Amino acid sequence: MNTTTAGAAKPFAHAPEPTPETLPFWEGARAGELRIQRCRSCARHYFDPRPHCRHCASADTEWTRVSGRARLVSYIINHRPAPGFRDYSPVIAMVQLDEGPTLMSNIVGVEPLPENLPLDLRLEVRFEERGEAVLPVFAPAAPDTDEPNAAAVTTGSEETRQVTA
Ligand SMILES: [Zn+2]
Repeated sequence: MNTTTAGAAKPFAHAPEPTPETLPFWEGARAGELRIQRCRSCARHYFDPRPHCRHCASADTEWTRVSGRARLVSYIINHRPAPGFRDYSPVIAMVQLDEGPTLMSNIVGVEPLPENLPLDLRLEVRFEERGEAVLPVFAPAAPDTDEPNAAAVTTGSEETRQVTA
């Protein structure tokens, strides 16, 4: 009987609400960091958040900041977004982090056309405000930021970039 007041109080009812288990993930996003869990027993990363490792069931886990680099595994282009989602990217994607886990996200920074979204496309994390929450989303990686040594070449000449490309 109070559905109308609940709706009015939450203009972004689709924004995620952190739980104790997911809070470090959302706090990380707000700080501009992609944080997921890693198992100290088997050394593997996993997602989504849970108290026991999904690979070996160990409870010896920790939160870590990951690279934010990923590849495009699958996607759909949602041509008819639900109310409240029209301002956001219509590309709903499954991405695989370089650390291994996959997660659902949006692809931003590119026209939402299939020719712009080849599978295995290299991606890097961005952060987008959604009402009260900040969500990790992904954009195509700039070619020169996807190389491990690229940071050392930011002031290099054009010739240097060609050599390292
Ligand atoms: Zn484990």
